[in-house]
Amino acid sequence: MTNFFFDTMNKNDELRSDRMLSNEEKKKYMQLAIDQAKEAKSQGEVPIGAVVVDPAGKVIGTGYNRRELDEDATQHAEMIAIKEACDNLGMWRLIDCSLFVTLEPCPMCAGAIINSRIKDVYFGALDHKAGACGSVVDLFSVEKFNHHPHAVRGLYHDQCAQMLKDFFRAIREKQKAAKQAQKETESQ
Ligand SMILES: [Zn+2]
Repeated sequence: MTNFFFDTMNKNDELRSDRMLSNEEKKKYMQLAIDQAKEAKSQGEVPIGAVVVDPAGKVIGTGYNRRELDEDATQHAEMIAIKEACDNLGMWRLIDCSLFVTLEPCPMCAGAIINSRIKDVYFGALDHKAGACGSVVDLFSVEKFNHHPHAVRGLYHDQCAQMLKDFFRAIREKQKAAKQAQKETESQ
């Protein structure tokens, strides 16, 4: 019975539409994810943004990292965008949908992508410390899972990585300035 279920799921996977996104479309959606990342940054969060696009090309979910704002480890950009997409469609299956995100998904988000049956994932910067789409581990290629999203790595990588670098550099400079100010106060 269990095998039958999984066989059925795989057959459904094969029946998915294979409309390819044009480079213009990819650029447009990644720019929307970058806009979401900028929104995170404006609120003092690590700049990471995501959007979910349905097979017709409509944006059905957006999200940006809100981990600090909400004091919640699960509030990653992808999780928020996926939840919004499910709410909008009124179903948990995001068949044939694509997700665009500025940073390689972590294991939690890669799990949510698999569970929601998202078809294609486009991400910008690679995450060598937590990336679960090839950098640390590749959850999308684990054969025993019943769904294997297709990942496109490094779309607008430089722009996405630079946003993160600039954010962390600004934090380091702030900390340095605060330390310096403290030293000066102590030596007076
Ligand atoms: Zn994540």
